[in-house]
Amino acid sequence: MTPVEIRDVYVRLETDLLVVGDSIVTDRHHASNGNYEDDDPQNQIGGIIPAFPLSGWLRHGMERVVQEYGRTACHPGEANANFRMADVYDRDLESGYHEKGACVDDSNGDDGCVILDLFGGFHNRPGKVMRRPIRFTPVRNSVDYTRGQAEGHYRRLNRNVVSRNPEDGRDPLRNTELDAVANFEGAWHLSFRERKPEFVGLLIEAVDFLDTHRTEFMHQLGGARNFGAGIVDCDLINPLYEERELKRVFDRAKGSTNAMDEKDEQWIETYRPVFIEALEDRIAEGS
Ligand SMILES: [Zn+2]
Repeated sequence: MTPVEIRDVYVRLETDLLVVGDSIVTDRHHASNGNYEDDDPQNQIGGIIPAFPLSGWLRHGMERVVQEYGRTACHPGEANANFRMADVYDRDLESGYHEKGACVDDSNGDDGCVILDLFGGFHNRPGKVMRRPIRFTPVRNSVDYTRGQAEGHYRRLNRNVVSRNPEDGRDPLRNTELDAVANFEGAWHLSFRERKPEFVGLLIEAVDFLDTHRTEFMHQLGGARNFGAGIVDCDLINPLYEERELKRVFDRAKGSTNAMDEKDEQWIETYRPVFIEALEDRIAEGS
């Protein structure tokens, strides 16, 4: 059995609240027609979750998988960057990381550890997994899951920071606004620029890890995590599914078909172990 050549995969993401700071791109100026009230629940506003926070979240999960195999992961930061706290970098190197790129003998070569291979970094070498942004919209029937889209409601959250001096009578000192997406559910589309079975293996294990550890502060997604944002249910959608089957995953009115159940069995019994084994082999090689 040879594993199917997997290029495109989708990770199902579901979260009640997602805050990615000021980096949500919204299309509210189109929807508002000049009458936009940012706290009006009737707003039908969509937008885009940039790939950056998603990528960092996934990468961190992958690093942890590599570390659980007893190996070090590539540090995400350049060793020669002017870190404000150099000792933080050194501390990381003592706890499960190697210096970024220390795994590469010849920086033009194709070696390096599996994390560097996937996320890239040197000599404009792109990572071999392409992480796309996710477009979201509150209008479910216009969500195209096969294009890596999601259902979600844009919200502007306001928070007042109040004085704690009794004589101020809890007067607000300042008001902060947060861009948030509520009731988010969709498909994150990832593509492998190069197909290596260990890439799929690492993705499988990282998504499992992130789902299991979703309430841990370190593995929540985006900002406002102290307030419970970014707790993400995630799972890898069976790559054997065809487009119409992928859509069915998100259709609450329809269950899975017999064909989908058969593909699930096939995936778990036949395909998944091959990818995991490829990951184990690559890690055993020391990279
Ligand atoms: Zn490395």
